[in-house]
Amino acid sequence: MQYRVEGLVIRSIDYGEGNKIVTLLTNTQGKAGVIIRGAKKAKSRHGSLAQLFTHGEFIFFRNTGLGTLTHGEIIESHHVLREGLELTAYASYAAELTDRALQEEEAGAYVFEQLKSCFAALQEGKDPEIIIQLYEIKILELTGYAPDFETCASCGNVVGSMALSARAGGVLCSRCSYRDPQALQLTDGALKLLRLYRRMDMRRMGQVQVKPETKKLLKQAMRQLMDTHVGLNLKSRSFLDQLDKYTME
Ligand SMILES: [Zn+2]
Repeated sequence: MQYRVEGLVIRSIDYGEGNKIVTLLTNTQGKAGVIIRGAKKAKSRHGSLAQLFTHGEFIFFRNTGLGTLTHGEIIESHHVLREGLELTAYASYAAELTDRALQEEEAGAYVFEQLKSCFAALQEGKDPEIIIQLYEIKILELTGYAPDFETCASCGNVVGSMALSARAGGVLCSRCSYRDPQALQLTDGALKLLRLYRRMDMRRMGQVQVKPETKKLLKQAMRQLMDTHVGLNLKSRSFLDQLDKYTME
């Protein structure tokens, strides 16, 4: 059967003599593995379609398992994301997270739009840490672990300061935070942003100005949530951590 999809390349590996297998996040067919024959040859018409982060139109045949590309066109190459070390690191994390965290049935048109916007925002030079945190929240929502930052998970209180409890799937108020010794006390600024992330669509993300200490706290909060609920040991994550250490020294 022939498929014509819009897709984002979220994984690309060498296969045999000169070929590549890409994993596409598509707008209509979830995640799809497609062989691009001759992609590594210098004169290949389809070589650039096999590059990580490429947004394109892909036409492929598939009966079962892997598809075979017959034709494709680049819509947006996202080459900027493959050039700088930092941008590549963030975009790789978003791609790998999408590839590994989402089950087939969770990968629909909505996440395609979110990842497309995530790549676009990175390319436009918006704050990569904020973009990635927002994207992580979208992944948590899609996998059924949407955190509740509005209401204390223990008593239902909605006012006052809150601590993040990944285990409780949201926040605990000052009366209840003792219930989770690992709970992370949030500042007003951090709480406000987390609440905003839940309401915000990647497609509408503007330029957000966040104080460094708030960003640091948000990073800790997101790490706890991702480790507790997604718990993947991603290569791109460890690379981001190394980069972090390096830039802080
Ligand atoms: Zn409470």
